Amino acid sequence: MKSLARPLRARIHLDAVRHNYRQAKHLASPARALAVIKANGYGHGAVALAQALTDEADGFAVACVDEALELRESGIHNPILLLEGVFHPDEIAVVDQAGLWMAVHCREQLEWVLASRPSRPLICWLKMDSGMHRVGLAPDDFAASHARLAACPHVGKIVAMSHFARADEPEHPYTAHQIAVFEQGLAGLALPRSLANSAGILAWPQTHGDWIRPGIMLYGLSPLPDAHPVGLQPAMTLESALISVRDLQPGEPVGYGGRFVCERPTRVGVAAIGYADGYPRHACDGTPVAVNGQRTRLIGRVSMDMITLDLTELPDARPGDPVELWGTTISAHEVAESSDTIAYQLFTGISRRVPLFHHSLTNGVAS
Ligand SMILES: *Cc1c(COP(=O)(O)O)cnc(C)c1O
Repeated sequence: MKSLARPLRARIHLDAVRHNYRQAKHLASPARALAVIKANGYGHGAVALAQALTDEADGFAVACVDEALELRESGIHNPILLLEGVFHPDEIAVVDQAGLWMAVHCREQLEWVLASRPSRPLICWLKMDSGMHRVGLAPDDFAASHARLAACPHVGKIVAMSHFARADEPEHPYTAHQIAVFEQGLAGLALPRSLANSAGILAWPQTHGDWIRPGIMLYGLSPLPDAHPVGLQPAMTLESALISVRDLQPGEPVGYGGRFVCERPTRVGVAAIGYADGYPRHACDGTPVAVNGQRTRLIGRVSMDMITLDLTELPDARPGDPVELWGTTISAHEVAESSDTIAYQLFTGISRRVPLFHHSLTNGVAS
């Protein structure tokens, strides 16, 4: 049972996720798309997202076997790729049984695949390090590794993949460099290709290849510096309510450490959300917040369970009035910028204490 007493909740708009998935596929047509729903769907609820997309998604991508099994146990039968493959050779038996696809990003994983005895051919996404320098086979090792996999009777389809380090910088030459390194490492192999994350999909059409891997754009945010004309819809509204309002005089401080001191007669509102819910403790004075749909600003340090807002320009605001932390009025990008982080971290940092309410016009309220 979800308690309805504390007003804090994250509303997840499943129709927006479906719209954003279709926009990604439309941009990259005819490429197929793995909806990236690792880390509980970037905090949006992976099972509910997968159920909302199951009829149309070409597949899903997650970070580990546990995340994949949660989907399988919820009745999701679409392909599921493990983006980092397995962490231990014993996991290949689970991959086999659950019919997962696996990345193979290093020699150790390659040996584990070759030594395994699966009941059906394993589908491998062979990953090349084209310049991210985190995981992936060296470009000059790729063709030989591919030859060993391809010769293995219990290996099925092979996809060549790589990942970008700077695709969110449309002017930067590094992405073109990575594309060139990737093609050189492939040495003419006629493998299906998968390179593009959201930034690649939006800014680098030459990277679309056979499989795209949209993540953040599914949730309605573009990772690029400028708004993209494609029209993404924010999938999460993080909302709470005012629980207190008071009037302070010039010189009076607000909250821990007295970080904010009133310069004028100030009406201060308190909203029920804090850093224990995942609201960033580093949010600075001036971070945008919406009360009754109108923009105002955070003042004073974020506490564990509460934040303080400037209501001086909103004299009618009362306890119980709705507060939007991010969603359609306030972009999570803005809050991230004011907190020296990125929206990815805000979304994945939403804590268990925040109930998720999944909405869909086609299915009613799902949970
Ligand atoms: C997380 C991830 C993605 C999705 O990235 P976005 O920037 O959220 O679109 C794509 N590919 C890989 C390998 C990833 O780990």
